[in-house]
Amino acid sequence: MRAARYYGNKDIRIEEIDEPTAGAGEVLIDVAFCGICGTDLHEYLDGPIFCPTPDTPTSWTGETAPVTLGHEFSGVVAALGEGITDLEVGDTVVVEPYILKDGTDTGPDSTDYHLSEGMNFIGLGGGGGGLAEKLAVRRRWVHKIDPSIPLDQAALIEPLAVAYHGVQRSGAKAGDIAVIGGAGPIGLLTGAVLRALGVTVVISELSSLRRQKALDSGAADHALDPAAVDVAQEVHDLTGGKGADIAFEATSVQAVLDTLMDALRPTGVLLNISIWGHRSDFDMHKLVMKEIDLRGSIGYVNNHPAVIELVESGKIDLAPFITGRIQLEDLIDKGFDTLIHRNETAVKILVSPSGKGVDPA
Ligand SMILES: [Zn+2]
Repeated sequence: MRAARYYGNKDIRIEEIDEPTAGAGEVLIDVAFCGICGTDLHEYLDGPIFCPTPDTPTSWTGETAPVTLGHEFSGVVAALGEGITDLEVGDTVVVEPYILKDGTDTGPDSTDYHLSEGMNFIGLGGGGGGLAEKLAVRRRWVHKIDPSIPLDQAALIEPLAVAYHGVQRSGAKAGDIAVIGGAGPIGLLTGAVLRALGVTVVISELSSLRRQKALDSGAADHALDPAAVDVAQEVHDLTGGKGADIAFEATSVQAVLDTLMDALRPTGVLLNISIWGHRSDFDMHKLVMKEIDLRGSIGYVNNHPAVIELVESGKIDLAPFITGRIQLEDLIDKGFDTLIHRNETAVKILVSPSGKGVDPA
Protein backbone atom coordinates (compact mmCIF):
# COMPACT_ATOMS: atom_id res chain seq x y z
CA MET A 1 0.00 0.00 0.00
CA ARG A 2 1.04 3.60 -0.39
CA ALA A 3 1.97 5.81 2.57
CA ALA A 4 3.46 9.27 3.19
CA ARG A 5 6.48 8.72 5.39
CA TYR A 6 8.49 11.23 7.38
CA TYR A 7 12.26 10.76 7.09
CA GLY A 8 13.27 14.13 8.54
CA ASN A 9 13.22 17.85 7.96
CA LYS A 10 11.82 18.65 4.46
CA ASP A 11 11.98 14.95 3.63
CA ILE A 12 8.59 13.26 3.24
CA ARG A 13 8.32 10.43 0.71
CA ILE A 14 5.33 8.66 -0.81
CA GLU A 15 6.32 5.02 -0.71
CA GLU A 16 5.04 1.50 -1.13
CA ILE A 17 5.01 -0.31 2.25
CA ASP A 18 3.56 -3.57 3.59
CA GLU A 19 -0.10 -3.52 4.61
CA PRO A 20 -0.64 -3.78 8.36
CA THR A 21 -2.82 -6.48 9.92
CA ALA A 22 -5.05 -6.23 12.99
CA GLY A 23 -3.38 -7.84 15.99
CA ALA A 24 -5.32 -8.92 19.07
CA GLY A 25 -7.40 -6.00 20.33
CA GLU A 26 -6.72 -3.93 17.21
CA VAL A 27 -8.96 -2.59 14.47
CA LEU A 28 -7.77 -2.45 10.85
CA ILE A 29 -9.06 0.72 9.22
CA ASP A 30 -9.33 1.63 5.53
CA VAL A 31 -8.54 5.34 5.63
CA ALA A 32 -11.09 7.52 3.81
CA PHE A 33 -9.72 11.03 4.42
CA CYS A 34 -6.84 12.47 6.45
CA GLY A 35 -6.40 16.17 7.20
CA ILE A 36 -3.09 18.01 6.99
CA CYS A 37 -2.43 19.67 10.35
CA GLY A 38 -0.25 22.62 11.35
CA THR A 39 1.72 20.13 13.43
CA ASP A 40 2.58 18.19 10.24
CA LEU A 41 3.84 21.43 8.69
CA HIS A 42 5.97 22.11 11.79
CA GLU A 43 7.50 18.62 11.52
CA TYR A 44 8.25 19.27 7.85
CA LEU A 45 9.68 22.79 8.27
CA ASP A 46 11.16 22.83 11.79
CA GLY A 47 11.04 19.19 12.93
CA PRO A 48 11.46 16.61 14.07
CA ILE A 49 9.40 17.57 17.14
CA PHE A 50 7.04 14.68 17.90
CA CYS A 51 8.52 12.49 15.13
CA PRO A 52 11.56 10.27 15.69
CA THR A 53 14.70 10.41 13.53
CA PRO A 54 16.42 7.40 11.89
CA ASP A 55 18.87 7.19 14.84
CA THR A 56 16.89 8.47 17.80
CA PRO A 57 13.53 7.01 18.72
CA THR A 58 11.75 9.99 20.29
CA SER A 59 8.97 7.70 21.35
CA TRP A 60 9.30 5.11 24.15
CA THR A 61 7.89 2.59 21.68
CA GLY A 62 11.34 2.42 20.10
CA GLU A 63 10.08 3.32 16.64
CA THR A 64 12.53 5.25 14.48
CA ALA A 65 12.05 7.23 11.28
CA PRO A 66 10.66 6.78 8.73
CA VAL A 67 7.17 6.94 10.26
CA THR A 68 3.86 7.31 8.45
CA LEU A 69 2.28 10.74 8.99
CA GLY A 70 -1.38 11.72 9.51
CA HIS A 71 -3.37 11.96 12.77
CA GLU A 72 -6.68 13.58 11.64
CA PHE A 73 -8.52 10.82 9.82
CA SER A 74 -11.72 8.95 9.21
CA GLY A 75 -12.28 5.53 7.71
CA VAL A 76 -14.11 2.25 7.51
CA VAL A 77 -13.43 -0.87 9.59
CA ALA A 78 -11.73 -3.41 7.29
CA ALA A 79 -10.95 -6.19 9.79
CA LEU A 80 -11.16 -6.87 13.52
CA GLY A 81 -8.42 -8.39 15.64
CA GLU A 82 -9.05 -11.13 18.16
CA GLY A 83 -11.32 -10.18 21.05
CA ILE A 84 -13.24 -7.28 19.49
CA THR A 85 -16.99 -7.89 19.54
CA ASP A 86 -18.47 -4.38 19.69
CA LEU A 87 -17.58 -3.24 16.15
CA GLU A 88 -18.33 -4.68 12.74
CA VAL A 89 -16.51 -4.66 9.43
CA GLY A 90 -17.97 -1.74 7.44
CA ASP A 91 -18.55 0.53 10.47
CA THR A 92 -17.49 4.14 9.89
CA VAL A 93 -15.02 5.37 12.49
CA VAL A 94 -12.67 8.12 13.60
CA VAL A 95 -9.59 7.74 15.77
CA GLU A 96 -8.41 9.51 18.89
CA PRO A 97 -4.77 9.16 17.88
CA TYR A 98 -2.92 8.57 21.15
CA ILE A 99 0.12 6.44 21.82
CA LEU A 100 0.20 5.98 25.61
CA LYS A 101 2.21 3.69 27.82
CA ASP A 102 0.58 0.46 28.95
CA GLY A 103 -0.87 0.87 32.42
CA THR A 104 -2.07 4.46 31.85
CA ASP A 105 -5.64 4.87 33.15
CA THR A 106 -7.64 5.61 29.99
CA GLY A 107 -11.04 4.86 31.54
CA PRO A 108 -14.11 7.03 30.98
CA ASP A 109 -13.48 8.98 34.22
CA SER A 110 -9.85 9.82 33.48
CA THR A 111 -9.22 13.54 33.05
CA ASP A 112 -5.48 13.39 32.46
CA TYR A 113 -4.39 10.47 30.27
CA HIS A 114 -3.41 13.00 27.59
CA LEU A 115 -0.88 14.45 30.03
CA SER A 116 0.74 11.13 30.96
CA GLU A 117 4.51 10.82 30.63
CA GLY A 118 5.64 9.64 27.19
CA MET A 119 2.39 10.66 25.47
CA ASN A 120 2.69 10.80 21.69
CA PHE A 121 0.39 10.72 18.68
CA ILE A 122 -0.32 8.06 16.06
CA GLY A 123 0.85 9.57 12.78
CA LEU A 124 3.63 11.58 14.43
CA GLY A 125 5.47 9.40 16.96
CA GLY A 126 4.77 6.14 15.09
CA GLY A 127 2.01 3.56 15.09
CA GLY A 128 1.17 4.03 11.41
CA GLY A 129 -0.78 7.04 10.24
CA GLY A 130 -3.76 8.33 8.30
CA LEU A 131 -1.66 9.33 5.29
CA ALA A 132 -1.68 5.68 4.21
CA GLU A 133 -4.32 3.42 2.74
CA LYS A 134 -4.66 1.39 5.96
CA LEU A 135 -3.59 1.33 9.59
CA ALA A 136 -4.23 -0.83 12.65
CA VAL A 137 -5.30 0.94 15.86
CA ARG A 138 -6.04 -0.31 19.38
CA ARG A 139 -9.77 -0.60 20.03
CA ARG A 140 -9.62 1.98 22.86
CA TRP A 141 -8.85 4.79 20.40
CA VAL A 142 -11.43 3.91 17.74
CA HIS A 143 -14.76 5.80 17.91
CA LYS A 144 -17.71 4.63 15.85
CA ILE A 145 -19.63 7.40 14.07
CA ASP A 146 -23.08 7.48 12.52
CA PRO A 147 -22.93 6.57 8.80
CA SER A 148 -24.85 9.78 8.09
CA ILE A 149 -21.68 11.83 8.78
CA PRO A 150 -19.81 12.20 5.45
CA LEU A 151 -16.29 10.77 5.85
CA ASP A 152 -14.60 13.94 4.59
CA GLN A 153 -16.29 15.94 7.38
CA ALA A 154 -15.50 13.17 9.88
CA ALA A 155 -11.77 13.74 9.32
CA LEU A 156 -12.25 17.11 11.06
CA ILE A 157 -13.55 15.53 14.26
CA GLU A 158 -9.97 15.26 15.61
CA PRO A 159 -9.15 19.00 15.34
CA LEU A 160 -12.72 19.75 16.50
CA ALA A 161 -11.95 17.72 19.63
CA VAL A 162 -8.87 19.91 20.21
CA ALA A 163 -11.13 22.98 20.03
CA TYR A 164 -13.80 21.37 22.22
CA HIS A 165 -11.31 20.49 24.94
CA GLY A 166 -9.99 24.06 24.91
CA VAL A 167 -13.51 25.46 25.24
CA GLN A 168 -14.23 23.08 28.10
CA ARG A 169 -10.99 24.14 29.85
CA SER A 170 -12.02 27.80 29.45
CA GLY A 171 -15.30 27.35 31.32
CA ALA A 172 -17.20 29.25 28.58
CA LYS A 173 -21.00 29.16 28.95
CA ALA A 174 -24.05 30.39 27.04
CA GLY A 175 -24.36 34.17 27.09
CA ASP A 176 -20.61 34.78 27.39
CA ILE A 177 -18.66 36.90 24.94
CA ALA A 178 -15.43 35.36 23.68
CA VAL A 179 -12.65 36.81 21.57
CA ILE A 180 -10.42 34.53 19.49
CA GLY A 181 -7.00 35.59 18.22
CA GLY A 182 -6.43 33.90 14.85
CA ALA A 183 -8.80 32.33 12.29
CA GLY A 184 -6.68 29.31 11.33
CA PRO A 185 -8.30 25.86 11.54
CA ILE A 186 -8.17 25.69 15.35
CA GLY A 187 -9.36 29.29 15.83
CA LEU A 188 -12.28 28.68 13.45
CA LEU A 189 -13.26 25.35 15.01
CA THR A 190 -13.05 26.92 18.48
CA GLY A 191 -15.48 29.57 17.26
CA ALA A 192 -17.82 26.86 15.94
CA VAL A 193 -17.84 25.06 19.31
CA LEU A 194 -18.41 28.32 21.21
CA ARG A 195 -21.31 29.40 19.00
CA ALA A 196 -22.91 25.94 19.32
CA LEU A 197 -22.78 26.56 23.09
CA GLY A 198 -24.51 29.94 22.76
CA VAL A 199 -21.41 32.12 23.19
CA THR A 200 -21.02 35.32 21.12
CA VAL A 201 -17.73 35.13 19.20
CA VAL A 202 -15.44 37.95 18.06
CA ILE A 203 -12.49 36.79 15.94
CA SER A 204 -9.38 38.85 15.20
CA GLU A 205 -7.57 37.94 11.99
CA LEU A 206 -5.24 39.77 9.57
CA SER A 207 -6.32 37.88 6.42
CA SER A 208 -9.51 39.20 4.82
CA LEU A 209 -10.23 35.80 3.23
CA ARG A 210 -10.04 34.12 6.63
CA ARG A 211 -12.23 36.81 8.23
CA GLN A 212 -14.81 36.15 5.54
CA LYS A 213 -14.51 32.38 6.13
CA ALA A 214 -15.07 32.93 9.86
CA LEU A 215 -18.36 34.73 9.13
CA ASP A 216 -19.53 32.44 6.29
CA SER A 217 -18.81 29.22 8.20
CA GLY A 218 -20.68 30.37 11.28
CA ALA A 219 -17.51 30.37 13.42
CA ALA A 220 -17.85 34.04 14.41
CA ASP A 221 -20.45 36.77 14.96
CA HIS A 222 -17.87 39.53 14.36
CA ALA A 223 -14.56 39.40 12.47
CA LEU A 224 -12.08 42.22 13.09
CA ASP A 225 -8.93 43.26 11.22
CA PRO A 226 -6.26 44.01 13.86
CA ALA A 227 -4.30 46.07 11.28
CA ALA A 228 -7.28 48.40 10.77
CA VAL A 229 -9.01 48.64 14.15
CA ASP A 230 -8.12 48.57 17.85
CA VAL A 231 -9.44 45.10 18.67
CA ALA A 232 -9.46 45.61 22.45
CA GLN A 233 -11.38 48.87 22.03
CA GLU A 234 -13.89 47.25 19.64
CA VAL A 235 -14.46 44.41 22.12
CA HIS A 236 -15.03 46.92 24.92
CA ASP A 237 -17.52 48.79 22.72
CA LEU A 238 -19.35 45.53 21.92
CA THR A 239 -19.60 44.64 25.60
CA GLY A 240 -20.74 48.01 26.97
CA GLY A 241 -17.24 48.77 28.27
CA LYS A 242 -16.95 45.51 30.19
CA GLY A 243 -14.52 43.44 28.07
CA ALA A 244 -14.66 39.83 26.90
CA ASP A 245 -15.39 37.05 29.37
CA ILE A 246 -12.97 34.65 27.67
CA ALA A 247 -10.14 34.92 25.17
CA PHE A 248 -8.51 32.18 23.08
CA GLU A 249 -4.94 32.51 21.81
CA ALA A 250 -4.67 30.46 18.59
CA THR A 251 -1.61 31.98 16.86
CA SER A 252 1.42 31.79 19.24
CA VAL A 253 2.11 35.43 18.31
CA GLN A 254 3.09 37.84 21.11
CA ALA A 255 1.14 40.83 19.76
CA VAL A 256 -2.03 38.71 19.68
CA LEU A 257 -1.52 37.60 23.28
CA ASP A 258 -1.09 41.25 24.35
CA THR A 259 -4.26 42.30 22.50
CA LEU A 260 -6.27 39.51 24.12
CA MET A 261 -5.06 40.55 27.59
CA ASP A 262 -6.36 44.07 26.87
CA ALA A 263 -9.67 42.81 25.46
CA LEU A 264 -10.51 40.72 28.54
CA ARG A 265 -12.65 41.94 31.41
CA PRO A 266 -11.31 41.80 34.97
CA THR A 267 -11.40 38.16 36.23
CA GLY A 268 -11.65 36.93 32.61
CA VAL A 269 -10.06 33.70 31.39
CA LEU A 270 -7.27 33.57 28.82
CA LEU A 271 -7.07 30.11 27.25
CA ASN A 272 -3.94 29.33 25.22
CA ILE A 273 -4.67 26.67 22.58
CA SER A 274 -1.66 27.25 20.30
CA ILE A 275 1.75 25.56 20.36
CA TRP A 276 4.50 28.06 21.18
CA GLY A 277 7.91 27.24 19.72
CA HIS A 278 9.46 30.13 21.67
CA ARG A 279 9.09 31.80 25.09
CA SER A 280 6.48 34.50 25.55
CA ASP A 281 7.17 37.98 26.87
CA PHE A 282 4.10 37.94 29.06
CA ASP A 283 2.86 41.07 30.88
CA MET A 284 2.45 39.59 34.35
CA HIS A 285 1.46 42.94 35.87
CA LYS A 286 -1.61 43.10 33.63
CA LEU A 287 -2.56 39.61 34.73
CA VAL A 288 -2.29 40.63 38.38
CA MET A 289 -4.17 43.93 38.06
CA LYS A 290 -7.12 42.30 36.25
CA GLU A 291 -6.93 38.98 38.13
CA ILE A 292 -6.83 37.16 34.80
CA ASP A 293 -6.94 33.38 34.86
CA LEU A 294 -4.39 32.04 32.32
CA ARG A 295 -4.91 28.41 31.21
CA GLY A 296 -3.33 26.00 28.73
CA SER A 297 -4.94 23.27 26.66
CA ILE A 298 -3.44 20.35 24.71
CA GLY A 299 -5.17 17.60 22.77
CA TYR A 300 -8.33 16.07 24.26
CA VAL A 301 -9.29 13.69 27.00
CA ASN A 302 -12.50 11.65 26.86
CA ASN A 303 -13.99 14.40 24.64
CA HIS A 304 -14.66 12.42 21.46
CA PRO A 305 -18.14 11.08 22.38
CA ALA A 306 -19.45 14.61 23.05
CA VAL A 307 -17.76 16.01 19.95
CA ILE A 308 -19.19 13.26 17.72
CA GLU A 309 -22.64 14.01 19.19
CA LEU A 310 -22.25 17.72 18.28
CA VAL A 311 -21.61 16.74 14.65
CA GLU A 312 -24.24 13.96 14.47
CA SER A 313 -26.93 16.27 15.86
CA GLY A 314 -26.09 18.93 13.26
CA LYS A 315 -25.14 21.54 15.89
CA ILE A 316 -21.82 21.95 14.08
CA ASP A 317 -21.49 21.75 10.29
CA LEU A 318 -17.91 20.86 9.35
CA ALA A 319 -18.40 21.15 5.57
CA PRO A 320 -17.42 24.87 5.29
CA PHE A 321 -13.99 24.20 6.80
CA ILE A 322 -12.93 21.77 4.05
CA THR A 323 -11.13 23.66 1.27
CA GLY A 324 -9.59 20.80 -0.72
CA ARG A 325 -9.54 17.02 -1.22
CA ILE A 326 -6.34 15.78 -2.85
CA GLN A 327 -4.52 12.56 -3.74
CA LEU A 328 -1.63 11.23 -1.67
CA GLU A 329 0.76 11.89 -4.59
CA ASP A 330 -0.10 15.61 -4.38
CA LEU A 331 0.58 15.87 -0.61
CA ILE A 332 3.58 18.22 -0.91
CA ASP A 333 2.68 20.15 -4.10
CA LYS A 334 -1.01 20.78 -3.51
CA GLY A 335 -1.13 20.23 0.26
CA PHE A 336 1.94 21.40 2.19
CA ASP A 337 3.00 24.08 -0.33
CA THR A 338 -0.48 25.63 -0.34
CA LEU A 339 -0.64 25.69 3.47
CA ILE A 340 2.89 27.07 3.83
CA HIS A 341 2.84 29.72 1.07
CA ARG A 342 -0.83 30.55 0.44
CA ASN A 343 -2.44 29.63 3.73
CA GLU A 344 -5.03 32.44 3.68
CA THR A 345 -6.78 30.62 0.80
CA ALA A 346 -7.04 27.29 2.62
CA VAL A 347 -8.46 26.03 5.90
CA LYS A 348 -8.40 22.23 5.98
CA ILE A 349 -6.97 20.25 3.07
CA LEU A 350 -7.86 16.56 3.13
CA VAL A 351 -5.93 13.73 1.55
CA SER A 352 -7.62 10.62 0.19
CA PRO A 353 -5.01 7.82 0.26
CA SER A 354 -7.20 5.60 -1.95
CA GLY A 355 -7.80 8.44 -4.41
CA LYS A 356 -11.58 8.15 -3.92
CA GLY A 357 -13.49 11.40 -3.46
CA VAL A 358 -10.74 13.81 -4.55
CA ASP A 359 -11.67 17.14 -6.13
CA PRO A 360 -11.73 17.17 -9.94
CA ALA A 361 -8.41 18.53 -11.27
ZN1 LIG B 1 -3.40 18.08 14.42
